[in-house]
Amino acid sequence: MTRLTSRFLFFLIRPLALVLAGLGLVVTGCGKDTPVCADWGPVPADVSGARALDEASRVVALGPRDSGTPGAEKAAAYLVGRLQALGIEARVDAFQEETPDGTQTFRNVIGRLPGRSAETVVLISHYDTKSGIATNFVGANDSGSSTGLLLELARVLKGRHGGPELEFLFTDGEECRREYGPRDGLVGSRRRAGQLKASGESARVRAVILLDMIGDRDLKVTLPRNGDPRLSLAVFAAAEQEGVRASFALADGAVLDDHVPFLDAGMPAVDLIDFQYGEGPGDNRYWHTAEDTMDKLSADSLGLVGRVVLRVLAAP
Ligand SMILES: [Zn+2]
Repeated sequence: MTRLTSRFLFFLIRPLALVLAGLGLVVTGCGKDTPVCADWGPVPADVSGARALDEASRVVALGPRDSGTPGAEKAAAYLVGRLQALGIEARVDAFQEETPDGTQTFRNVIGRLPGRSAETVVLISHYDTKSGIATNFVGANDSGSSTGLLLELARVLKGRHGGPELEFLFTDGEECRREYGPRDGLVGSRRRAGQLKASGESARVRAVILLDMIGDRDLKVTLPRNGDPRLSLAVFAAAEQEGVRASFALADGAVLDDHVPFLDAGMPAVDLIDFQYGEGPGDNRYWHTAEDTMDKLSADSLGLVGRVVLRVLAAP
């Protein structure tokens, strides 16, 4: 992901208009004003930060997962295997795209859990690591943390699911090779958003929730301004109910991340991201460095974010 500079604003005209149009909306009960109405009864309480951390550590132990490398192929196969072991139908969607460095193979991992309603909720983490950082760059927080939590959420939701269809989407190619643009970065999310739109399934998508860099022990989750306003309000309400509202804030600006292609395709999407990954406020020294290692992650942070996501899904 990247903080947006002006040259990326052309991506955002429509989403920003939606944000401005929707700022007055209030989440009031189970209905069209509610982002997700899963009718699941009590909020599942058994999401485990420790399990999520363990899942993350196993993904990170696979090694670098740079797009187009054997490491990424191995990671994609591993994720399919984990989802299937949880009893969730899963597959690799392998495809080729032009990149600034030539044609490259990318692999999205898609898990689907059927629901009882005609609606779909998409939960996303990218699993690729950024190339060109260091030979020992393993991306513990970026992208191991969200990948581990998404696997843990899949485990919990497999046992509790009764609402909309759920898609667990692990994207490849989130990281750009050189500079974010129409042919660099967000490759997997553009692919999947395009597929859902082309098939007409996007009309059934009630919510897209993206997780990115949410394992830092010093957790401050921000919601970029280019997120669906109703979903953003739902996240803040869920954090309030969990007693962790202080760990969530509205970001200063927009962020270019995997939720943007879904917004552009007309689906409500939100990004939960902690883009302060260092020694304190404003310090991002571990991001995209060889210091992004497992010792920086916290089971408590993963569990906290997991509980908030489940509460959003179980809203009102
Ligand atoms: Zn990154």
